[in-house]
Amino acid sequence: MLKLYNTMSRQKEKFEPIKDKVTMYSCGPTVYSYAHIGNMRAYIFMDTVRRVLKYDGYKLKGVMNITDVGHLLSDADDGEDKMAKASREQKKTPYEIAEIYTKAFMDDLARLNIGKPEVIAKATEHIDDMIKYVVALVEKGYGYETSDGIYFDISKFPSYGKLSRLNLDDQIAGARVEVNDEKRHPADFALWKKAPKEHIMQWESPWGMGYPGWHIECSAMSKKYLGAEFDIHTGGVDHIPVHHENEIAQSEALEGHSTVKYWMHGEFMQVDGGKMSKSLGNTYTVSDLMQKGFSPMCFRYFCLNTHYRKKLNFTFEGMEGAKVAYNRLLTLLDTHKNGTSKTEDNVIANYKNQFCEAIDDDVNIPLALGVLWTMLKEAPSKDIYALAQEFDKVFGLSLDQPPVREEVAVPDEVKKLADERLEARKNKDWAQSDKLRDEIAKLGYVVMDKKDGYELKKA
Ligand code: AMP
Ligand code: ZN
Repeated sequence: MLKLYNTMSRQKEKFEPIKDKVTMYSCGPTVYSYAHIGNMRAYIFMDTVRRVLKYDGYKLKGVMNITDVGHLLSDADDGEDKMAKASREQKKTPYEIAEIYTKAFMDDLARLNIGKPEVIAKATEHIDDMIKYVVALVEKGYGYETSDGIYFDISKFPSYGKLSRLNLDDQIAGARVEVNDEKRHPADFALWKKAPKEHIMQWESPWGMGYPGWHIECSAMSKKYLGAEFDIHTGGVDHIPVHHENEIAQSEALEGHSTVKYWMHGEFMQVDGGKMSKSLGNTYTVSDLMQKGFSPMCFRYFCLNTHYRKKLNFTFEGMEGAKVAYNRLLTLLDTHKNGTSKTEDNVIANYKNQFCEAIDDDVNIPLALGVLWTMLKEAPSKDIYALAQEFDKVFGLSLDQPPVREEVAVPDEVKKLADERLEARKNKDWAQSDKLRDEIAKLGYVVMDKKDGYELKKA
């Protein structure tokens, strides 16, 4: 029985989908620069939830948005538009910026074995849906117009703040809220902004030229593709206090009922115990890691070792450890692939049970990996290999690939002895050949004869 932790109730709850097909919405990236490894942790989390659902036999419709309309730089509705800033700095149109970074993001998804959700929805292609949404909210009395936009009136939505369990005063104290005399309440947020002439992305609307507020995107697109009530909504923990509160306010105000059954949030990745930030120069991308010799699968393995609700501290030592461990997994699997033992059916069933219990306990992948490691200690058997490949439907770690055979630098002394031995063999001096083999062994190497020479391996 699958249980998922619901941020709304702060509890693990039995998962019961609304309809046969599971419906899931995931907040996607803002495509104004390359996604960093913290962002990618969020999508590995989304992917593992999807994989667990599929492993448990559910059919799935997942939607992820691509924010290609600028979010504003701060949590409040002020600050500079990120897309506009990138566009100015890189001397490209916002559409070109969005295209470059959407493609880079999709490439990262593929490298990390992150399955693409069934629907990828670009914000710029759904402006009409957002406008209709805002019109409906205004008609229902939840929105009001000011000189610079349309705002959501949170005084009309008394349960505002129920996801983060922050009271409004705390929220206002915590957020840098725009000074705007026309707003009825400081925490009212923009549904639509009127655009000054120079604003780089703008669309026609009943309120003149403008652009959508950054929360309406997710309310409008989830409704369009998943309906007025869907099963799972994912995002990072940073979205809980503002973005998701505002999404809840908009959606519940419009529908008159709760629209999301399970809210799931992935914890943050830190670097060297602190915040990942451009100014500190510690925001790595998957490509950066690859250049440093860490494959995307090493990174995925690194992420999967920590439960999604725990903070994960990224260090290069940690990555080194993940690289060694991941390759050890592949090496052990290779042994099982060619194994000749038979593993009893009840033993296999027992491992499978433990694995299912782990993944069904709020997607406990670290525990499931523990089951895999224990299972690989069995005598080499193709049954174990097959079961590991089945588990890999959830891990997505490409466990069917061969291990990387690290080039071992053989000391010159050993090479010299091996060359002398080759010479002795050519002269059919078997006694000398055996003597040299023993000397090589003493230095910790095994020499194997090949057709035209030899191969050295560490003993
Ligand atoms: P953004 O493009 O800024 O909207 O972020 C995309 C996703 O990455 C969101 O779900 C964020 O919650 C998530 N995210 C941002 N920074 C981190 C981080 N350091 N660790 C984990 N997730 C993050
Ligand atoms: Zn969102």
